Amino acid sequence: MKLDNPELLRTQAYIDGQWVNADDGATFDVDNPADGEVICAVPEMGAAETRRAIEAADRAWGEWRARTAKDRAAILRRWHGLMLDNKEDLARLMTAEQGKPVAESTGEVLYGASFIEWFAEEAKRVYGDVIPTHMNDRRIIVTRQPVGVVGCITPWNFPNAMITRKAGPALAAGCPIIIKPASETPLSALALAVLAEEAGIPPGVFNIVTSTRAKEVGLELTESPLVRKFSFTGSTAVGKQLIRQCASTVKNVSMELGGNAPFIVFDDADIDAAVKGAIISKYRNAGQTCVCANRIYVQDAVYDAFIEKFAAATRELVVGRGEDDGVSIGPMISDKAVDKVETLLSDAVEKGGQVVVGGARHSRGGLFYEPTVVRDASADMAFATEEIFGPIAPVFRFSDEQEVIDLANATEFGLASYFYARDLGRVWRVAEGLDYGMVCINDGILSTETAPFGGMKESGMGREGSKYGIDEYIEMKYITLAGL
Ligand code: ADP
Repeated sequence: MKLDNPELLRTQAYIDGQWVNADDGATFDVDNPADGEVICAVPEMGAAETRRAIEAADRAWGEWRARTAKDRAAILRRWHGLMLDNKEDLARLMTAEQGKPVAESTGEVLYGASFIEWFAEEAKRVYGDVIPTHMNDRRIIVTRQPVGVVGCITPWNFPNAMITRKAGPALAAGCPIIIKPASETPLSALALAVLAEEAGIPPGVFNIVTSTRAKEVGLELTESPLVRKFSFTGSTAVGKQLIRQCASTVKNVSMELGGNAPFIVFDDADIDAAVKGAIISKYRNAGQTCVCANRIYVQDAVYDAFIEKFAAATRELVVGRGEDDGVSIGPMISDKAVDKVETLLSDAVEKGGQVVVGGARHSRGGLFYEPTVVRDASADMAFATEEIFGPIAPVFRFSDEQEVIDLANATEFGLASYFYARDLGRVWRVAEGLDYGMVCINDGILSTETAPFGGMKESGMGREGSKYGIDEYIEMKYITLAGL
């Protein structure tokens, strides 16, 4: 891989400000999902190295929290600037290890960097309260202080932004952090550490532990009494296990888990706009995001028209290697992911779903899969209840407003939802009726560092980004002064 700054490709982990190997020298390979080629190997770490990272973070905490918010903000701003300066290289690294088209990788680097900029600004706005007293000889104040050492586990689908979304607010609040990135995508994480070091983030404040032994590292991060906060982005099943583990030390937890996003098109919608939104929402990152449209519901009167236009737009998508020009869909992340998509599709076809576009592995072979539209989708098909995490778009039919609100809510998930409508009363009723942490009306993209990202029900707890995001890394302290 050619990088303008070859220093960004690191094959060691980053603990306590040092670039280090695993204690026993073991490594694991990082490969390119587009062709299976090995890019490099990184340290295969375990409990001992994780514990050292936690201890380093704990030692670094006092000095980091003691700095002024303005000082921490200045360092974060430098980190943000370095991410922008190196955005092409960060995108190349991401596409190599993750597969997404380079335009999407660049978009993610900018999105990822935006959290560092945003929280550099928010660092200075962690205000307390003075509360009117209940007794004349007393005063009541509330201060807000950093929660302490933060442990994080992040997924492979957004190798940069899922880290900055946690590291930005944690560091801004005054907390040091230990991150175990997904084993598929450690290189983006390590490149962020190179820039963190250059920005002047002190040793021990930002640590990256690389490993395929997720369970072992996870146990250390969740059960160590030194770790006061645990933040996870990944699947609901793993999230539930990690919450259980965190119970042992009553850790403060934030969870960004799975989704099953409804994407509803009402008969008063602008159909062309809805098609455009569905394409972006469904096929971004080859359908591998937790906010991807999972169930597309289209009202009777516009069902056929929508399918026709949506199928035509899907046919236009170009599947290929992420670094090639004009590619809109890269490879999927693993065999397991492709197998899941195949299983979901054959289940749907058996139950009467009709494949309008795609429906098979792509002729390029490997992990490439055709973007696929299935019409006549029904509630008994597995993808009605399961997260697809791939480029299959099931289109369901519905008749009336309350029916579709009920269908949309008939899931244990509650992350992102989308709908297209123009009638103002309907817009308001549906927005209020959807049991989702995020509702996007008349567009297919909702993520921004300025808004609170997060889910209801089994999609998680806590919010990332926005003025609320820093609260996840803050403890409130009530101080009362008596005997005045
Ligand atoms: P995905 O299906 O997106 O890979 P996972 O929840 O399996 O979702 O993975 C998200 C992150 O959680 C990755 O960093 C992965 O290594 C980690 N992980 C997976 N299983 C465990 C576990 N039992 N304990 C701790 N971390 C885990």
